[in-house]
Amino acid sequence: MADKLSAVKGMNDILPPDSARWEALETAVREVMRLHAYRNIRTPIVEPTALFVRGLGEVTDIVEKEMYSFEDRLNGEQLTLRPESTAGVVRAVVEHNLLYEGGKRLYYMGPMFRHERPQRGRYRQFHQIGAEALGFGGPEVDAELIVLACALWKQLGLQNVRLELNSLGQPPERLQHRAALIAYFEQHADQLDEDAKRRLHSNPLRILDSKNPAMKALNDAAPKLLDFLGEQSLAHFNAVKAMLDANGVSYTINPRLVRGMDYYNLTVFEFITEQLGSQGTVCGGGRYDYLIEHIGGKPAPAVGWALGVERVLELLKEQGAMAAEIAPDVYAIVPEVAFLPQVLPLLAQLRNMGVSVHMHAPPNSADGMGSMKSQFKKADSSGATFALVFGADEMAQGQVTVKSLRDGQGAQRIESLADIGLWGQSLQSAL
Ligand code: ATP
Ligand code: MG
Repeated sequence: MADKLSAVKGMNDILPPDSARWEALETAVREVMRLHAYRNIRTPIVEPTALFVRGLGEVTDIVEKEMYSFEDRLNGEQLTLRPESTAGVVRAVVEHNLLYEGGKRLYYMGPMFRHERPQRGRYRQFHQIGAEALGFGGPEVDAELIVLACALWKQLGLQNVRLELNSLGQPPERLQHRAALIAYFEQHADQLDEDAKRRLHSNPLRILDSKNPAMKALNDAAPKLLDFLGEQSLAHFNAVKAMLDANGVSYTINPRLVRGMDYYNLTVFEFITEQLGSQGTVCGGGRYDYLIEHIGGKPAPAVGWALGVERVLELLKEQGAMAAEIAPDVYAIVPEVAFLPQVLPLLAQLRNMGVSVHMHAPPNSADGMGSMKSQFKKADSSGATFALVFGADEMAQGQVTVKSLRDGQGAQRIESLADIGLWGQSLQSAL
């Protein structure tokens, strides 16, 4: 046998029955997005490296150390597997002039790639679902997006996520705060870790985003951006808070919340759980009013969030919510290969009525279909609600036995194949 190949470290296969939970989540997302009038966008997984360097900021964890970048073998172009999707969405919106007729509300789902140390809730290929509202500057859209996320938690039955909120103000306010921050960190230079020392003059705000517990006390006492906000920024922040209050959304203000990308301004937020250990942020986002123009579009405001699918599913599992249901409705037991031409169209007819049918098939056709006993065993373990037995006696009479597999008594009845429209319907309604 050939050597076994395995998946790349930190990149997971998503297998049944788990994949059913992924599908259920995706279905819930589509419904909640439809209710909020957000429309689907799908952008490429590979983008020019420059898009992320320019869009996310050079001095960010992602751009400094987490990107999967490579050179196109044929034309030498620098390319990157997308580490997030906001930059790609903005590129597409600008490229296709989507804001021509006004704002757009969009959502996406798909894989992202970051070269991180794999651990629970942190992978190298992971999945995000994101919502972006582009071309809207008002606080009501910040609030709408947060309310949308809350609606999704509700639809999924997800509990114990709390909302943290902050405002990063506008660039001039950030500059003033930056000076105060540098002065503060310089005073405490002996307590800075390597990352912080490197970022002190390039991007001191990013120091506040440190995951190093040793930096926490120092960061806690650092000058707060909120204290540097001007009147307009404060008004925006207060309006968002008031609309969340009106919607019954509770939150806490976290003055140290800065988020991992440079493109944010004004409102930033995260949904956090204590139930997933240190990888507790399930969703994060904020306003990015300067990104569109930064990527070459006509200036337009925007706001959005992204959630980590693996973390949300892990949390749902932890909470026992959203069980995976993958059992077929019906298992078709067929003892003779010769019956198949007659049976297959009947199964197709049932499927047309909305009944899910698992057809028995032997691993090796040279051995025939396999004994009735072994087929019944398979039917039981499939979790199907009914077995349809297309046995020799039944087929000779133009009939089928419908056997209940889950009522504990194995109740069964005989039906005529000619009447499939009738009993097929009753099967369907009994499910
Ligand atoms: P963290 O602080 O945990 O590294 P982040 O700030 O880098 O997160 P974002 O870029 O804001 O995360 O992405 C939004 C969400 O995507 C995160 O809140 C998280 O749920 C999820 N996420 C980010 N990176 C990963 C990863 N490597 N593996 C799994 N999920 C991830
Ligand atoms: Mg990160």
